[in-house]
Amino acid sequence: MAKIKSGRAAVYKGFGQRFEIKEYPVPEPEPGAILIKVRRANVCGSDLHMWRGDTNIDAMGAPLPAILGHEMTGTVAKLGQGVSTDSAGQPLAEGDRVVYRYFFPCGHCRACLRGQDPACPMAPLPVVSCCEAPPHFLGAYADYYYLRPNHTVFKVPDDLTDDMVAPANCALSEVLYGLERVGFSFGETIVIQGAGGLGIYATAVAKDMGAEKVIVIDGIKERLELAKAFGADEVIDMREYKDPVDRVLRVKELTGGWGADVVAELVGFPRVVPEGIDMLGNGGRYLEIGNVNIMMTYEADPSSLVINNKSIIGVLFYKADTLKKALDFLSRAKNKYPFDKILSHSYHLEDINKAFEEQDKGLVSRSAIVP
Ligand SMILES: [Zn+2]
Ligand SMILES: [Zn+2]
Repeated sequence: MAKIKSGRAAVYKGFGQRFEIKEYPVPEPEPGAILIKVRRANVCGSDLHMWRGDTNIDAMGAPLPAILGHEMTGTVAKLGQGVSTDSAGQPLAEGDRVVYRYFFPCGHCRACLRGQDPACPMAPLPVVSCCEAPPHFLGAYADYYYLRPNHTVFKVPDDLTDDMVAPANCALSEVLYGLERVGFSFGETIVIQGAGGLGIYATAVAKDMGAEKVIVIDGIKERLELAKAFGADEVIDMREYKDPVDRVLRVKELTGGWGADVVAELVGFPRVVPEGIDMLGNGGRYLEIGNVNIMMTYEADPSSLVINNKSIIGVLFYKADTLKKALDFLSRAKNKYPFDKILSHSYHLEDINKAFEEQDKGLVSRSAIVP
């Protein structure tokens, strides 16, 4: 294959500034790495948090300018020396469609050694790296993505479209691993707070895991309708149930007076946490995924955990096999749920500012940047 000379990237320069399209030389993959041609890069909630300044990465000392974005899919543009298969041992060649983890556990710390590599602390802010120095392409909103050595990558089955698999490496894998971590099991009830991309996937995965009842809470009609299409048994419309106390009572009512076995926080605002904990029955588990913003807090009464034997489990990232299971799930459930409806809009890389503005206004549920 001829050497590729340069590629475009949407560069984030700091809070409040517009993305700027810049060109960088395309790197040759070092041994063990893969150069990916990006086909779809989605605007995930956490990208929006950074862009909006909820997650103030500038103040946190992130090395800027940087290329944001991490939820994506692409094709193999070039394999580094020594890479001939994906992480499941299937042969890999240039042109193959792939999904991959966007974070790189060290493999040597206490978390990695005990098989909990999502908890590896050695890669802080793995999605934000300065793009001025080679290999430049370390974020998704660009023509290329540089998949470093020690990565996890899987070949995408032919029966899955790009739109279906683009959210696999973030939204889908995140909720899948979260539900495993919280020990969600056959015959249990679950409340899902928030019917954005993660909430919609959590609904489908919980049903697939044998949920007795999935109850989804949101305040936007289209999202609640989508939740129903993805298997929600009941929805609680916040326009109808305006008071948190009424929402808790409604959950109790829908769960035979007991409360939910699991409540999953997929909203991203701390104020929903106490309400969600109140929705749990005794012995229930609260799954915390959405609140990624540092220094945003809520007021808590810990006795409600102690007296009722409730617990909170926080989850960021997921295991290598989670991503494989996510692909398998999509193949198995592709005709059962309207996966093509999750991504509502797509934008060219040049229109990335518009994509963020429209998603921020709530005009778009989850958009894809198509370079
Ligand atoms: Zn994400
Ligand atoms: Zn580690």
